[in-house]
Amino acid sequence: MAFESLSERLQGTLKKVTGQSQLTEQNMEEMLREIRLALLEADVNYEVVKDFIAKTKEKALGADVLGSLKPGQVVVKIVHDELVELLGTDVSTVDFSKKPTIIMMVGLQGSGKTTTTGKIAKRIKEKDGKKPLLVAADIYRPAAVEQLKTIGQQVDVEVFSEGTDVSAEKIVTDALDHAKENHNDVILIDTAGRLQIDQPLMEELKHLKDIAHPDEILLVVDSLAGQEIANVASSFNDQLGITGAVLTKLDGDSRGGGAISIRYLTHVPIKYIGTGEKLDQIDLFYPDRMAERILG
Ligand code: GDP
Repeated sequence: MAFESLSERLQGTLKKVTGQSQLTEQNMEEMLREIRLALLEADVNYEVVKDFIAKTKEKALGADVLGSLKPGQVVVKIVHDELVELLGTDVSTVDFSKKPTIIMMVGLQGSGKTTTTGKIAKRIKEKDGKKPLLVAADIYRPAAVEQLKTIGQQVDVEVFSEGTDVSAEKIVTDALDHAKENHNDVILIDTAGRLQIDQPLMEELKHLKDIAHPDEILLVVDSLAGQEIANVASSFNDQLGITGAVLTKLDGDSRGGGAISIRYLTHVPIKYIGTGEKLDQIDLFYPDRMAERILG
């Protein structure tokens, strides 16, 4: 599971502290060093780690941990609370009340963008009784259009597609008209990805944003991407202004640290998580659950 190595490391460190009746200044430093190492080894962005450690230390000193009877437990709580804060405190959801709600799905190739687009469509159709429309705007990979069509069939949601010979801008414009006639209340636009971030991709996404006026721009991020997550999240956010992130593949062998970085670096919440390849393997992101999983 995601966060496993971070979790083990922190558990070990905190157990050491918990086992001590008296926390000295020296072993508190040692504990902070261990936490710092664990976070870095888990691929948490360096700046995030620095800040996390500084805040934890400040709170620990402020809470007068050194003099408390159960210093370990106080530190565990501080670390837990700091993690929750870092992960976003509250559950953040997409607001589907606007009709239509327009969502642009963005992300690098292979992140799970197309799959996640289908998952969200299925979820809101079944849970919220919505009538979504999937829009195949990734014109650079014919396979992407076919993939979305297949997923559309599986989740029984209409897919708007005009093949790969017209511009993405035209597809989106036509899709919006189609959705109006068809009374779709949610429009999910599957945009093109690239293996790496490049400027032409960003320019195209900016054009699509101008045309679609999306209520949400959700960045899909592969939780297995490690330190790269920080760059991806920052770049997409700087250029496009994302409104949320989806973390995929949390069922895999992710070290998880990049997830912690997203919120810190972009200030946008993680709104969904992907927990498998199947189209119902999607969930909301619960910061407290995640923090507890990290701490064990
Ligand atoms: P895209 O290129 O970003 O559109 O990525 P795809 O949607 O095609 O997904 C790439 C691969 O990741 C596919 O094999 C998906 O089945 C897989 N995938 C997507 N989300 C998840 C997830 O949450 N867990 C796992 N294990 N695999 C996923």
